[in-house]
Amino acid sequence: MTTAFDELMDYDDVLEQYEPVMGMEVHVELATETKMFSTSSARFGAEPNSHVDPVSLGLPGALPVVNAKGVEWAIKIGLALNCSIAESSRFARKNYFYPDQPKNYQISQYNEPIAYDGYLDVILDDGTEWRVEIERAHMEEDTGKLTHIGGTDGRIHGATSSLVDCNRAGVPLIEIVTKPIIGAGRRAPEVARAYVAALRDLVKALGVSDARMDQGSMRVDSNVSLKPIGATEFGTRTETKNINSLRSVYQAVRYEMQRQAQVLADGGTIIQETRHYQETDGTTTKGRPKETAEDYRYFNDPDLPPVIAPREWVEEIRATLPELPWVRKARIQQEWGISDAEMRDIVNAGALEPIIATVAAGTTSGEARSWWVSYLAQKANQQGIELDQLPITPTQVAHVVELIKAGKLTNKLARQAVDGVLAGEGDVDEVVAARGLEVVRDDGAIEAAVDEAIAANPDIVAKYRAGNTKVAGAIVGQVMKATRGKADPGQVNKLIAAKLAE
Ligand code: ADP
Ligand code: MG
Repeated sequence: MTTAFDELMDYDDVLEQYEPVMGMEVHVELATETKMFSTSSARFGAEPNSHVDPVSLGLPGALPVVNAKGVEWAIKIGLALNCSIAESSRFARKNYFYPDQPKNYQISQYNEPIAYDGYLDVILDDGTEWRVEIERAHMEEDTGKLTHIGGTDGRIHGATSSLVDCNRAGVPLIEIVTKPIIGAGRRAPEVARAYVAALRDLVKALGVSDARMDQGSMRVDSNVSLKPIGATEFGTRTETKNINSLRSVYQAVRYEMQRQAQVLADGGTIIQETRHYQETDGTTTKGRPKETAEDYRYFNDPDLPPVIAPREWVEEIRATLPELPWVRKARIQQEWGISDAEMRDIVNAGALEPIIATVAAGTTSGEARSWWVSYLAQKANQQGIELDQLPITPTQVAHVVELIKAGKLTNKLARQAVDGVLAGEGDVDEVVAARGLEVVRDDGAIEAAVDEAIAANPDIVAKYRAGNTKVAGAIVGQVMKATRGKADPGQVNKLIAAKLAE
């Protein structure tokens, strides 16, 4: 019997004896309109069992029809991962009983996946590149969802009943499996995290998935084993499921390395099993013994023809691939001439895309950055929301910058205009008009205010004329006050200097 915390070997000691070997299996839910083999909506969050149909409910005689968009997006992912795309691939039945999978089998791909033999170059924390080899990316369907009632924390353990929701049954999934990742040593957890982060950014950039680990639209299983240094054979692996964040990817790998090493040091053996990652304490706990492929009795699905991917189609899809997110980021950083730290701040603030869009609307990167990273990030922070949830568009921000450059707004007035937009008072022009923010350009009005301020402050004027020109600031202040901040301070300064020189 183990306690909540299994005894762990010190990380450095693990590395003295063993080389970690990892394999990542990542499931990505595609954001297609409809399911992989039927026309029900694939959208998340609807009333339970409202997005169902005979196919996704596994009713007798219902026949699946392949979603072409799902195939196209599978190819897109495969190409972005530098894979070969099979001209012909097949769907197979993976047979197992699970209450949220009414057909009693999952349609997947087995020995003929659509994409195979690729790689993804990921960037580690210190900027070095690490190549992760991809074994395959194949298409399959998601299962439904069970909700367990009566236990604690929604777990099946101790539950008195379970509810089945088939909305997710049949939603397209792409499973991406790496080849064994060897040689990372101490950096194994970091490589695992960097890989999953890169994959997430990639599928998001491809526009094929929202890849939310917290919502289950991207799910990671991490396989880890230990190989005595110098040995040629791999050790037995465990497969950790239930990993919900990038931080957990790192921790799950590190924990398994330390746990397995301790088991071996105690004279035990590693059993090939699934394990569950525990968010609460960063440990993994025993799951079920791992079935082998034979247990699933895979066979080609007789209801589905081979998937044919003509080369011209594959090339058309290749032509739509966007620049890789990290390549784009590096290029943009260079174009803007900013440091790694500045870029990190921008990315962490969620300001990269808004700034890019603002620059595209006509500002310099510096102008766009100063709005998004300082003023607007602060506003978002105060409201506890993300930058892109603020009710102001990059175009509006660019327009504010334009008004400042044209001398129609001072920086201070511009902030008031932005505040108005954020408060839902309309677009920038509407707020400027409604609040009367525009800088007063009418020299007559400003001149009158200047005359008044000069007349009201003879002592300041005397000091100024005696050579202490700094005191002009006090008069500028009064003029700004009189015009309620709408005069251009530079212009006021000039006017005062001209008047007092008379
Ligand atoms: P399964 O579906 O049974 O988990 P997969 O082939 O889909 O098998 O995935 C296994 C993953 O584990 C792959 O990424 C593979 O590279 C990796 N892997 C295989 N053998 C080992 C091992 N001994 N140690 C660590 N990872 C391994
Ligand atoms: Mg697998």
